[in-house]
Amino acid sequence: MASRRVEILSLRTILCSANVALSVRGKTLVGELWLDLRLFGIFNEFFPKVFSSSSLVKHELVGNYSHLFTVPGREPDLEPYMLLAHIDVVPADEADGWDVPPFSAQELNGFIYGRGTIDNKQSVMGILQALEYLLERGYTPRRSFYIGLGHDEEVNGLHGAVNIMKLLKSRGVKLQYVLDEGLAVLDGVSGLDGPAALLEENPMPRLFGYGPERGTFEHLAHKFGLPLRSIMSNLWLFSPLLSR
Ligand SMILES: [Zn+2]
Repeated sequence: MASRRVEILSLRTILCSANVALSVRGKTLVGELWLDLRLFGIFNEFFPKVFSSSSLVKHELVGNYSHLFTVPGREPDLEPYMLLAHIDVVPADEADGWDVPPFSAQELNGFIYGRGTIDNKQSVMGILQALEYLLERGYTPRRSFYIGLGHDEEVNGLHGAVNIMKLLKSRGVKLQYVLDEGLAVLDGVSGLDGPAALLEENPMPRLFGYGPERGTFEHLAHKFGLPLRSIMSNLWLFSPLLSR
């Protein structure tokens, strides 16, 4: 029997684009959002600290269904970062070849099936669970951060991500970086020798040697032999070379 936390997979949080018709309980929706509002009850029940605004976290609804969380850090001069995930999924039908109904959250042969399991409800639940855990312990991060959970990412995020971005811009927020969903690492696929993942063709520029790792390597430099010792203690100069 799947845990109650898996219930999120059984909730229809479907966005269909303007040219896709979706049939939900006898109703045909075109270019509409079908958001099972029990989702909000589940969020409040599982993550009471995250959703009850306190001095440790501020929760705001944006575009009616998207969520923005602000977690203030101890050092307000540090540029904040942002974690992103999305609640919505693309439509799914059992006729598409699903082994179990796509919104059943059924467990089959040790695997839990549900539309959105890896895109992107696992990120939504993982981020919220981690924050709940930290808030329970009264955690205050050094660096402030934001969490944005969009409700219409699959159809360009015009109401969710765009409004979150406008809100942050109006507050003069500049982000150091944004961490969004990635692709799955394929492992155990027949015919594939080892794990494989597709990397983005236009990744962000390499920043190795400009973050916290710089201090770590410089601190450890004396433990390396030459010539690595010189390289590690001069990352300001050699990081472009080392990060290749
Ligand atoms: Zn996604």
